Amino acid sequence: MTQLSTFSRRQFLAGVGASALTLPSLTDAFGNPLPTAQPGRKLGIALVGLGSYSKNQLAPALQQTKNCRLAGIVTGTPAKAEEWMKKYDIPKANVYDYKTFDRIADNKDIDVVYVVLPNSMHREYVVRAAQAGKHVICEKPMAIMPQECQEMIDACKKANKQLAVGYRLHYEPFTQEAMRLGQQKVFGPIKFVESSDGFRIGDPGQWRMKKALAGGGPLMDVGIYAVQGARYVTGEEPISVTAQFGPKTEPQKFKDVEETLFWQFQFPSGAVSNSTTSYTAGVERLYASCQDGWFELSPAFGYGPLKGRTSKGPIEKPIVNHQAMHMDGVCEVLLQNKTLPDHITGAEGMRDVKLLQAIYQAAETGRKIDLKA
Ligand code: NDP
Repeated sequence: MTQLSTFSRRQFLAGVGASALTLPSLTDAFGNPLPTAQPGRKLGIALVGLGSYSKNQLAPALQQTKNCRLAGIVTGTPAKAEEWMKKYDIPKANVYDYKTFDRIADNKDIDVVYVVLPNSMHREYVVRAAQAGKHVICEKPMAIMPQECQEMIDACKKANKQLAVGYRLHYEPFTQEAMRLGQQKVFGPIKFVESSDGFRIGDPGQWRMKKALAGGGPLMDVGIYAVQGARYVTGEEPISVTAQFGPKTEPQKFKDVEETLFWQFQFPSGAVSNSTTSYTAGVERLYASCQDGWFELSPAFGYGPLKGRTSKGPIEKPIVNHQAMHMDGVCEVLLQNKTLPDHITGAEGMRDVKLLQAIYQAAETGRKIDLKA
């Protein structure tokens, strides 16, 4: 099946999160009402891994959420535990390290475990969280290999718990508008897409530069956004991929992972996407050229504010906190005892991981990889 049928409008809307944090809009990009805060208690979230994303984005966002709150932490660094307990008023009973983590099973304050660790650790902690009887949010990329994703999905299913991936942009209004413009063919069929995400990386000693921990270079880290962008504006699954590694202009720095990677997807409708990801220079853009016009987001994938325009003029949307919208949206569904929409679950995470691996295969072999099988 090549058409992105699971990414249906109905399912997409089922997952759209709580109201915008500034200039709240009453409807989403498809003109449907936005859900609101749920009655009753907020779900307790425990963050696993207190690195920069937890510290600078998720914890501050959890001070704004309506359907969830920061209830616990899991860290291997005692000094961080002390700091976070004070700063966020977290009781000692809700603080774990990687050895004591499984005891979270007995903690009724924690409903959801959010895994924010280096990529190679996602599988283990998602499986352990599910075995502890918690719902799970896992950061992108969901894992390194598709088989790991399957194990994570199976563990959550077995525990009768739900698994979401940290796809914050699915709750972001400019992104939702780009999805609508593309999927509803507002400017006619999409002919080609340019979807690229890259930045110049700092510290060469960090885990992102180590294949064993990251699974690869910029493709695993931010290239996944370019893959997502091409998929969500077309609303289709690619049928083939070609890819090329860029030159190593700094070979001492990029010993273990790629510096730059280019790839091209072909889609069933005839649309083609062209993408770049890089750790050597910045790019952040999603552009769709359609039969009767065009639309673009630039910047398209960062924390915002995102900006967009079309061949008819600027896109005007509220500026929101992506992480708060995402966590509120996920927790709203959990509070309602409903099933998470497919496009933010482990199934979607696994689709992306399969494509990331196909891109590497295409670049390594120089062959066009058939994705229809
Ligand atoms: P950081 O390096 O800043 O933090 C990772 C944390 O994981 C560390 O601080 C540490 O926390 C813990 N950790 C445990 N074992 C290791 C290890 N062997 N090496 C390094 N860290 C370890 O990474 P980020 O916070 O930037 O990224 C974490 C995850 O979040 C990644 O999967 C990344 O892709 C994703 N991410 C997603 C973003 C998004 O926009 N959705 C943006 C940024 C990141 P402690 O000291 O508490 O044990």
